[in-house]
Amino acid sequence: MNSDTKVAPAPSGDGCKECLAMDGWWLHLRRCLACGQIGCCDSSPSQHARGHWQESGHRQIMSYEPGESWYYDWEDNTMIDLPDITITPPLHHPLSQPAPGPAGKVPDDWEYLLN
Ligand SMILES: [Zn+2]
Ligand SMILES: [Zn+2]
Repeated sequence: MNSDTKVAPAPSGDGCKECLAMDGWWLHLRRCLACGQIGCCDSSPSQHARGHWQESGHRQIMSYEPGESWYYDWEDNTMIDLPDITITPPLHHPLSQPAPGPAGKVPDDWEYLLN
């Protein structure tokens, strides 16, 4: 039995799905390897990537930041190697999108609001 994800489906969008729905903002983005849900990182105010894991049980994520390529397992709380995985593009959010993001939604004092 091998439960590892072999093909990561396309991402849910350019930004954190739940933040976009609630006019929120994020620092960095994470992508669920099981379903493609884009969520915000643990430093972000709402920690939606972690929330998605807790709701769905989808334990493996990847960074959705340009220039980063790593995988992480929430349950084991560790970085993981997935040499055989195929990632459906795009591999990161659009370069035109700032971090923190999205543009226009980030408060001026965002650095004081991080977790
Ligand atoms: Zn979020
Ligand atoms: Zn998922």
